[in-house]
Amino acid sequence: MLESEKEARMSQPAAREALKQRGFRLTRQRQILLDLLDRTGAHLDAETLYRLAHEKDPKLNRVTVYRTLKMLKESGLVDELDLMHHAGDQHYYETRRKQEHAHIVCLRCGKVEEYFGEPLQKLRREVEKTFGFQILIARTEVGGYCAHCQVLRAQEVAEAGQAEAAASARRNRG
Ligand SMILES: [Zn+2]
Ligand SMILES: [Zn+2]
Repeated sequence: MLESEKEARMSQPAAREALKQRGFRLTRQRQILLDLLDRTGAHLDAETLYRLAHEKDPKLNRVTVYRTLKMLKESGLVDELDLMHHAGDQHYYETRRKQEHAHIVCLRCGKVEEYFGEPLQKLRREVEKTFGFQILIARTEVGGYCAHCQVLRAQEVAEAGQAEAAASARRNRG
């Protein structure tokens, strides 16, 4: 993990404070979900999150996990993403405690990279200045093919071309 990411994370007292301002307590199930999202640093869907939470505390049921997730989202501690819908209607969750970043999604293998570069902050400042806008939330998603999938796709296209050529050669013979 980068030092800057570590610093950007909210401490447990800060999470507790953010919830308190909205009239919520940092209950054990909320803490478990926040910890899971923080620790994995990944973009987990609700079902995966439920499985992991259930492993930690078998008393946690699906309804509680989904309800808690919704509450964490509403209180601004957790972000809900669709990641270009690369896997259908699935939604993903990540902690808001990370510094703002863009998501780079491979539409073939589903790999998600995070971009934390300064141009994002610059874009934010420009939008605020140009439109006199107060930004509460900004989301940047980029879809395409990762380096690995570009190679595989080129092979697939070549193979499809060969198969097509072979099929048309057979037709011409017959
Ligand atoms: Zn890929
Ligand atoms: Zn992310």
